[in-house]
Amino acid sequence: MLSDWFGDMTNLLCVEDAYVATFEAKVTRSDNDRLVLDKTAFYPQGGGQVGDTGEIDGIRVVDTRKMEGMVVHLLDKSSLFTVGHTVRGRIDWDRRYRIMRLHSASHIVQYVIEEMLGMDCKPTSSGLVDDLKDRTDYSFNEKLDPERLKRIEERVNEIIQGEYEIQRYSDQNDPERRYWRIEPFRPMPCGGTHPRTTKEIGKVSLRKGKKPGAGKERIEITLV
Ligand SMILES: [Zn+2]
Repeated sequence: MLSDWFGDMTNLLCVEDAYVATFEAKVTRSDNDRLVLDKTAFYPQGGGQVGDTGEIDGIRVVDTRKMEGMVVHLLDKSSLFTVGHTVRGRIDWDRRYRIMRLHSASHIVQYVIEEMLGMDCKPTSSGLVDDLKDRTDYSFNEKLDPERLKRIEERVNEIIQGEYEIQRYSDQNDPERRYWRIEPFRPMPCGGTHPRTTKEIGKVSLRKGKKPGAGKERIEITLV
């Protein structure tokens, strides 16, 4: 699933450095409201994380998607860019930073659920994280009552306040396979963007979302 994520022609600046908010790049393809660049800081939707928004040469980018192996910036109007021309891009940083913090919080919730309830209780899909909340469905054999959810929330916030370094690295044998980890917990496959330390996440609040089906629970995370 992750392996086809970073194998295209566009150099994804956000993979090496999630803090790049402005950049210059060359146009490689321009087609009405779709624009492709030789490099970009815009994260294309994937792995449960929404695509970035922002501006390129003053034109709104309303979403970023992977399409036909390309990273495509979706513009709010048809625009003609000259191939080879240099443009300036700027992502909506406040929005992205919230997404990064919530995405890391989502991994920590998974650590805590494994710690408290065992490895059988695991995500049933990659979930969805935007700038408002993360929602992830877990397989649950037992009931997720309010007290248990509160204990999970307390432990998650304790880890966040522990100011752990968030490690991001590629598989040695497969550079396109990326991992997320805080020591001493196990590495998790993830191609998303993340802050440098858990402390940057700040305090989070957990609540139960709409029940996604029998034997499953949805956990929603918001920034406090
Ligand atoms: Zn992730």
